Amino acid sequence: MNQVTPINTNPVDIQAPDITRWQAGNTGVDFVWQFDSGKPGPNVMVQSLTHGNEICGAIVMEWFLSQGFKPQKGVLTMTFGNLAAFARWDPANPGISRYTDEDFNRVWSDEYLKSNKNSAELERARLLLPFVDSADYLLDIHSMHEPCAPLMVCGVTGEGADKAVELSKRLGIPECLMYDTGHPSGKRMIERPHFADPNNPKTAILIECGQHWEKSSVDVARQTMLRFLIDREVISHEAVASHLNASLQAKSHKVVKVTEAVVAKSSEFSFVQPFKGLEVIPKKGDPIAKNGDETVVAPYDNTVLVMPSVSKQWKIGTTMVRLGQLM
Ligand SMILES: [Zn+2]
Repeated sequence: MNQVTPINTNPVDIQAPDITRWQAGNTGVDFVWQFDSGKPGPNVMVQSLTHGNEICGAIVMEWFLSQGFKPQKGVLTMTFGNLAAFARWDPANPGISRYTDEDFNRVWSDEYLKSNKNSAELERARLLLPFVDSADYLLDIHSMHEPCAPLMVCGVTGEGADKAVELSKRLGIPECLMYDTGHPSGKRMIERPHFADPNNPKTAILIECGQHWEKSSVDVARQTMLRFLIDREVISHEAVASHLNASLQAKSHKVVKVTEAVVAKSSEFSFVQPFKGLEVIPKKGDPIAKNGDETVVAPYDNTVLVMPSVSKQWKIGTTMVRLGQLM
């Protein structure tokens, strides 16, 4: 595959799939495929391309559909999410395809979906909503802006994240499982009410496979998807055994509870070391970064750095790192 190095970003080492043959879907909604085994079992959904520049999920979904795998139990739904954004994919300028009008993963509150507002993303979300809300289990496949070890976003503490952590532990991938605090700018798909209710067994997880365009992100996406489908018994282990990669099995799990975000207060922001993410700062009070005149220190022992920004360009107000407690 040709390597393209866009300006001011990470290299693009993977090639976006041609998914035009999947456009028609079989549900009446473009790019939504649903397979009913005819046997009792859960309704399981996998989504790729929530962000149009996060192509690893689309690669493995296209592969899965092309292989012709069908569910042995229950119902399997596969959706390519933000097609309008993905249609703008340009490896020489990969940032432009993240979304069209607004972030597709901030539009999922009932209040916003039912409002009279409109955007390309809201329009698509309203079409996908019946599939999301009838899913018992959801895997949403993402990747990250900066190179970072994969992590599973299990949702907001107290809002369904415990059951998502339990499910993720069974998958054995990735090592790092994260409780987070959500985003003030809007709800994610994994935060739909049935998933966010701790008393409802329906569960959603969001995998961040690694940097958007690294080859390893595709491997992580494939393994996570297959293990998720096997765990939910939609696909048998035997059916996909030759595609499983034991080397990606996590030896243990690191469960991290994000408590706060560090926001740049100054254009003079610098980390004390070139952190890559998921480092553990052992002692409370140890320095992490200079934020203008302030020193950002570890708020507790075993502070984990989540997604530190290594970008040379940021604005005041940009989240530079999230801090989490190792549990
Ligand atoms: Zn994403």
